[in-house]
Amino acid sequence: MNAVTVTDLVVDRGKRRVLDGLSFTVPPGQVTGLLGPSGSGKSTLLRAVVGVQVVRSGGVTVLGEPAGSPALRSRVGYVTQAPSVYADLTVRENARYFAALYGRGAKEADAALAAVGLAGAAGQLVENLSGGQRGRASLACALVGDPEVLVLDEPTVGLDPVLRVELWARFHALAAAGATLLVSSHVMDEAARCDRLLLLRDGALLADATPAEVRAEAGTDDLEDAFLRLIRAREEVAA
Ligand code: ADP
Ligand code: MG
Repeated sequence: MNAVTVTDLVVDRGKRRVLDGLSFTVPPGQVTGLLGPSGSGKSTLLRAVVGVQVVRSGGVTVLGEPAGSPALRSRVGYVTQAPSVYADLTVRENARYFAALYGRGAKEADAALAAVGLAGAAGQLVENLSGGQRGRASLACALVGDPEVLVLDEPTVGLDPVLRVELWARFHALAAAGATLLVSSHVMDEAARCDRLLLLRDGALLADATPAEVRAEAGTDDLEDAFLRLIRAREEVAA
């Protein structure tokens, strides 16, 4: 069974059509990257996957259930683009609070903090953290419930290169353990780190394939260049 199935999804925000009839599936146990420039609709699509986005038509199922249904609450983790942790709690208090929501304990909270490299900052108030640390605290709070599907909206923005590499290794370890990850990024050099790619532009999919398939289709080894060629090919068809 696919972890996520999106069918003919149309989303309008205000007068704009933001997602224009998307259909794709996300296979389980893999890291799928949602790549696209700013404003292409990544966050809107991820919101639809977790069931918080009003959609005009079409549908999304996650683990066989309609997106957002109560049965999915403990099975789907979501890390928003803006870190969603409590500024006036410590890092550890945040992790323990989310652990309690998911029916987990202090042990799991500490493990999640260690996994994102925040064990040393556990006693600090979130308001005193750097942006990158806040993002990681937010990620730890999603990891603490050990979700089957993890939806991450630009989780590596603002991280130094070492932490970025560590985080991608962490994503692959989670996938190897059976989790499904859907990770958005506007940085094309992260595309190569994904098992599958969804290339989004102006609310439409330019590609839904492995990085190797995208390279082969575009006839270039550079994924950023491949993305540009796919855009040009699409525009020629449209013209
Ligand atoms: P991305 O995450 O790829 O940057 P978004 O999903 O945030 O893209 O936005 C897609 C489009 O929807 C953009 O053109 C943006 O201007 C528009 N949009 C985003 N949020 C809103 C909103 N609250 N109201 C109206 N339009 C919005
Ligand atoms: Mg976004």
